[in-house]
Amino acid sequence: MFTKKTLARFRVSGGGKFRLRRHDPAWPGPKHLRDLGDDELKARAKSYVARALEELAEAQELLWANDVHSLLVILQAMDAAGKDGIIKHVMSGVNPQGCQVVSFKAPSAEELDHDFLWRCVRALPERGRIGIFNRSYYEEVLVVRVHPELLARQKLPPGKRGGKFWSQRYQSINALERHLVRNGTMVVKFFLHVSRDEQRRRFLARIDDPAKQWKFSAGDVAERAHWDAYMDAFEQMIAATGTAWAPWYVIPADHKWLARAIVADILTDVIGSLDLKPPTVSPEERRALRSARQQLLDETTDLRRQ
Ligand code: ATP
Ligand code: MG
Repeated sequence: MFTKKTLARFRVSGGGKFRLRRHDPAWPGPKHLRDLGDDELKARAKSYVARALEELAEAQELLWANDVHSLLVILQAMDAAGKDGIIKHVMSGVNPQGCQVVSFKAPSAEELDHDFLWRCVRALPERGRIGIFNRSYYEEVLVVRVHPELLARQKLPPGKRGGKFWSQRYQSINALERHLVRNGTMVVKFFLHVSRDEQRRRFLARIDDPAKQWKFSAGDVAERAHWDAYMDAFEQMIAATGTAWAPWYVIPADHKWLARAIVADILTDVIGSLDLKPPTVSPEERRALRSARQQLLDETTDLRRQ
């Protein structure tokens, strides 16, 4: 559904400069499809996602069989941007054995007794698996940056908490991700970019629909008041940590179906870039297979004789 050129527009992988303003959360889809009208476009996106997920499932089988690489998918977003929907869709296609989702909330007392990367490192996917982080160590340069008073609970060594402090956090993150990539974990990061207006609509929809009310928490509206501070934090974070080895993808998220199609496409593309093949069987193993086959065949003849 998307050309490589279109997908490249969402990718942020270095150069330092990044302006969130240049990314439209309400992007209406690729030009050649815009005349279709909303319903037709939606239907196309849906069948497209279904196909992309089949490809993803096949790619995951190979990831699992090869047992060398793993894929870490990081999701960051404002509330109601559609993280849960993305996870549900991506997960729906893949073998549950090869996939795990970990959600990161405000840190526990035990977690605060360690450095800020610790709890995420413990939850990394093993070789062959896809691990999805629903929020991550990036909260440490987002919510914590918007609410620096949270640092007081982190038991950090004394020091200033200015620009240098935050760039050191970016450095730690870049170094961790570089290490992971060098050792076989691919790192793909999505920022689901929803507009403030669309978030308002989604919050209202949650409040007005009894079946969705459980999803709403009053605190979400309080966080919304810090919208501009969050956008600043996202912008700086993406500029500093969008790297060649672990790029950010800024996904227009006002249209859920488009966001899902883009994410599915990027994930298949990323695993596809590994060009995985089924593991090869050595001549010895092939001999063993032949002999096992013969044994099984002999068994049926034995059984018939009995
Ligand atoms: P939902 O879609 O169900 O609301 P959620 O990811 O928003 O999912 P919540 O339990 O509502 O889950 O929110 C988790 C909260 O934990 C967020 O407000 C997030 O900012 C906060 N959080 C996550 N990591 C940290 C951290 N390292 N320090 C402080 N707060 C954090
Ligand atoms: Mg929430």
